[in-house]
Amino acid sequence: MKSFPIFINLIHKPVLVVGGGDVALRKIEMLLRADAKITVIASKLCKQLQDYQKLKKIHVKIKTFEKNDLVRSVLIVAATDNKKINLLVSKTAQGLNIPVNVVDEPSLCTFTMGSIIDRSPLLIAISSEGNAPVLAKFIREKIEALIPHSFSKLASIMGSMRDTVKGRYESSQSKRIFWENFIDHPLVRQFLNQTKKLSDKQLMTLVKRNKLQKKQGEVFLVGGGPGDPDLLTFRALHLMQRSDICLYDKLISKDVLNLVRRDAELIYVGKEEDRHTVPQEKINQLLIKLAKKGNRVLRLKGGDPFIFGRGGEEIEMLMEHKIPFQVVPGITAANGISSYAGIPLTHRDYAQSCIFVTGHMKDEKLTLEWDSLAKPNQTVVIYMGLLALSQICEQLIKHGAPKSLPIAVVEQGTTSEQRVITGRLLNITQKVKQEKLKSPSLIIIGNVVKLRRKLNWFN
Ligand code: SAH
Repeated sequence: MKSFPIFINLIHKPVLVVGGGDVALRKIEMLLRADAKITVIASKLCKQLQDYQKLKKIHVKIKTFEKNDLVRSVLIVAATDNKKINLLVSKTAQGLNIPVNVVDEPSLCTFTMGSIIDRSPLLIAISSEGNAPVLAKFIREKIEALIPHSFSKLASIMGSMRDTVKGRYESSQSKRIFWENFIDHPLVRQFLNQTKKLSDKQLMTLVKRNKLQKKQGEVFLVGGGPGDPDLLTFRALHLMQRSDICLYDKLISKDVLNLVRRDAELIYVGKEEDRHTVPQEKINQLLIKLAKKGNRVLRLKGGDPFIFGRGGEEIEMLMEHKIPFQVVPGITAANGISSYAGIPLTHRDYAQSCIFVTGHMKDEKLTLEWDSLAKPNQTVVIYMGLLALSQICEQLIKHGAPKSLPIAVVEQGTTSEQRVITGRLLNITQKVKQEKLKSPSLIIIGNVVKLRRKLNWFN
């Protein structure tokens, strides 16, 4: 560790900034957030700093920097484009033992500012000790996404209630368990996830009423998207990181599964070796049993849980058993795959509507509204339709669709293994057989498929 991270109170403390350009402005804006009393020494000021001066947010001296200017500052920042002045500021500050930061000159700094995530009173700062500021910023963006602004309010409330709780519990262990229970309370978690609005007063009441109770179980029904982990929502990732147990399907890609909390127990409920799926009823029972034991159960489903995902049935059962749950939408296969295959689902010239249907057969038969599916100027997306592909094409032609209607079949869409086969209703079955496409594959039918020739971008 070359630098030691500390958080310094700058409220109404004198801080000197040398320089009046855009770089100085960025630093000054950060320091203003900390309520520092800022003096700026510069030969001239940028427009925004002139405004700050008018608003009396900063005190300004238009002059050249001199050694004496440093006296009484608790911090100093040099942000000029003049190397000589930067060096002089750094040397003088170091001589007086005043921490100094010279922008973009690590060798002249005795402190750096780091990349800040401000959820005051909660603060996170990331430093790469000057080695890789862009990496620090990248990490900051990841953490920003994981910590919604609601954490800020919660931290304040917890701070204001500390003394009350201290008075209630003697040992530090019982205090800790109390707060852990509080953070884990379903209402608080929903507040943090921004699925529930709670006023300060309601939060305080919750603290007051909270007891050292048993952990309450909960189910997160989460859409894991079509495969590419970058297509997860922030909330999906957040809940994946909070779960104790994860029940996942065959459709969940390895890359997505890797993002579930490391020490969560993983239970596979997709197709078994003998190719029988775990019956839905058994999955429902398992969800209930695990949640009742106090676990946070992640039910991770491919795509979106409410699109051919039986998510509705699962939460119906949870409702009946009064188990708290939340549902997180995912990017459904049709959306993800159409984007990654360069096939817009609608287009002014080719398709004014789009239909999602399932091609899952019952007793080797497919019963669909063929007349409506064969209509022109629309896009038909068929989930689970690979096995029925020849039936689908035959029926569409029989019901009036042109034999030459473009069609695409996409295997493992949005992943690095994505394969796209395009053809016409009349020849696609043959092509797909030749290429030995396997599940999961999605079928897209309509003139929009032609656009792929121009719009294909992925791979
Ligand atoms: N709930 C899911 C769909 C489940 S049905 C969703 O919203 O996407 C399963 C079918 O989805 C598969 O048979 C296949 O047709 C389609 N599918 C899901 N992911 C896919 C992928 N990555 N590539 C191709 N098809 C996919």
